[in-house]
Amino acid sequence: MPRYEYRCRTCGDTFELSRPMAESSAPADCPAGHDDTVKLLSTVAVGGSASAPAPAPGSGGGGGGGCCGGGCCG
Ligand SMILES: [Zn+2]
Repeated sequence: MPRYEYRCRTCGDTFELSRPMAESSAPADCPAGHDDTVKLLSTVAVGGSASAPAPAPGSGGGGGGGCCGGGCCG
């Protein structure tokens, strides 16, 4: 379950809550009982199933005519 970070505007405390994504924007009470809280943009730590950006194939690397294959080395 993703965790979201909130900040209480009454006491200035920040706290985290684990809640479903459907309730990520629902009001959250701070540990001190205040309800004037705002949701912070924080890194959501979800295990697995996240579509990580695929690393772009870098230029170079073996295969397909390297330096020593085209006669530029000597
Ligand atoms: Zn508070």
